[in-house]
Amino acid sequence: MNNTASIQTGRCQCGNIKYSFDITSLISAHNCHCKDCQRSTGSGKATILFVAKKNITMEGQLKFYEVKGSSGSHVRRGFCENCGSGVISYAKEIPHIYYIKAGTLEDSSWLKIDSNFFTDSAHDWNSPDDSIKSYQGNPSMISNIKTLLKSF
Ligand SMILES: [Zn+2]
Ligand SMILES: [Zn+2]
Repeated sequence: MNNTASIQTGRCQCGNIKYSFDITSLISAHNCHCKDCQRSTGSGKATILFVAKKNITMEGQLKFYEVKGSSGSHVRRGFCENCGSGVISYAKEIPHIYYIKAGTLEDSSWLKIDSNFFTDSAHDWNSPDDSIKSYQGNPSMISNIKTLLKSF
C-alpha cells in the first residue's frame, strides 16, 4: 500500500464522467454475481466498492436506470449517456452509499475484495472466489454495522 495514492480516481470510457474519493473512505469491496449485475455488465459478475456518497466527488452527469433488484430493493444503475459505461450504482432504499464499479478505477492494484454476493446465480465460467466470504444472496446491508457506521 506504500505507493498507493490516498486520492483514487476513475472515469467512464469517454471521460465525461469522472470521480474521486479518499481511499480511507472505502467501506468494503464485493463481487456481485446477481443476474442484474451479470446483465448490466455483460459478464459473470460486477466488482463494486462501497463508498459513502458524501465522500465521492463527481464530475459529469450520470444517467440512471432503475431496476427492482433480486433482493426486492430498487437498484439505480448510473452510466455515461455518451459512452454507456456503468460507473456508479446505488440502492434507492440506501441512497447515501454508492457502489463504484471497480473496473472504472484508474488504478485498482491496491484493491482487496471482502466478499461475494449472490453466489447462487454465479456461473461455472466465472465461479466465485472461494478464499473469501460468500453470501448465497444479498447479505442484508441494513444490518451490516460497519457499512452503516462508515457511511454517515
Ligand atoms: Zn463516457
Ligand atoms: Zn448484483
